[in-house]
Amino acid sequence: MAKVLIIGAGGVGQVVVHKCAQLPELFSEIVLASRTLHKCDNIAQQVADKYQRTIETAQVDADKVPELVALINRVKPAMVINVALPYQDLTIMDACLEAGVNYLDTANYEPLDTAKFEYSWQWAYQQRFADAGLMALLGCGFDPGATNMFTAYLAKHYFDEIHYLDIIDVNGGDHGYPFATNFNPEINIREVTADCRHWENGEFVTTPAMSTQQRFTCPEGVGSFDIYRMYHEELESLTKHFPTIKKAQFWMSFGDSYLKHLEVLGNVGMTGIEAVEFQGQQIVPIQFLKALLPDPSTLGPRTHGKTCIGCVVRGIKEEREKTVYLYNIKDHQDCYQEVQSQAISYTTAVPAMISAKLMLEGLWMQPGVWNIEQMDPDPFMAAMNQYGLSWTVIEEPGFDLL
Ligand code: NDP
Repeated sequence: MAKVLIIGAGGVGQVVVHKCAQLPELFSEIVLASRTLHKCDNIAQQVADKYQRTIETAQVDADKVPELVALINRVKPAMVINVALPYQDLTIMDACLEAGVNYLDTANYEPLDTAKFEYSWQWAYQQRFADAGLMALLGCGFDPGATNMFTAYLAKHYFDEIHYLDIIDVNGGDHGYPFATNFNPEINIREVTADCRHWENGEFVTTPAMSTQQRFTCPEGVGSFDIYRMYHEELESLTKHFPTIKKAQFWMSFGDSYLKHLEVLGNVGMTGIEAVEFQGQQIVPIQFLKALLPDPSTLGPRTHGKTCIGCVVRGIKEEREKTVYLYNIKDHQDCYQEVQSQAISYTTAVPAMISAKLMLEGLWMQPGVWNIEQMDPDPFMAAMNQYGLSWTVIEEPGFDLL
């Protein structure tokens, strides 16, 4: 039995609350805090209607450490599940240290004024968490998160050494809008427009955003999609923790309409992150754009189709080269029926709930700052099958990847 404090009442936060509420024997008390109280209250109402459980809600500005510390000291949770934005990671980690509670997140820290994300800022907390006897577990969504565990699971059970890693994230869903993002638009657009970096022969190689593309056919009839190489944060931690990797790439599917809109928005300056003055006010173009775009948490009822996210690993087993593909397919409408959300938030939130569960049950709990792939993948993979994200392994899938 444990009390958890979930921070962030967006698309992912909503599903984390639902999934934790489904396990009252472990998550016996749930508190949801975010910047906008009524969003917390709406989620609490959903949970009350669906599971007859009461969720406590609170307003907090997670950019302010003293506010967070006061909240954590009042709530006294066993851990904080951070599903606010990457900008809040460090303030929430600071508050967890000060108040003496464990920490988990799904995205690495990113400064508001630089479109740059890397683990260095959070890895720098290693000694402080270790000294305090507290755990901080980083990157526990789907990618990063499940994809890290897929890699760790394959490395553990299928290979003696892994050499090539391709993470392939296909969203075969359609929400019917000409342009909308499936999670926070600001974070999504910053990620997609950043220079591409992939790992090759011991270093990151930089290429222009969206400049490398190939066609990928998903299994189980999900369809064929154009996938584009881009930088994603798990490449940094996976190449550190699996140093035998010679080449690691991350691929994501995008439709033509999405890319065309993004190009035009970029060309006219609407994706900029620096403030411009407009009629006496300072406006950050990408934040204004976010205000115009559909809220990702409203896409659930109108999104049809499936996600297919997995890892293709090539390496050596008993001196012979082999290739293995491990993936999950999730139907957007199945997610909506279960938790009133589309599959992007669902696939992020379930691994976060599972990781919190494994920490609270003690299987993974150990002081320090860790990336999820440093944990034993076996209980995680078993729980994925149990809590809505079943997975499949194909040996020698016959892909011809770049
Ligand atoms: P949303 O924008 O839908 O939700 C973010 C929530 O955080 C909002 O409720 C927002 O409040 C709240 N918030 C923002 N700033 C503050 C603040 N200063 N204090 C308190 N609350 C704040 O984003 P998502 O739910 O889509 O994403 C949540 C996290 O999940 C992000 O970090 C994202 O990067 C990560 N993610 C990870 C994925 C993975 O696979 N690893 C995939 C998808 C997302 P308000 O409602 O007032 O705006």
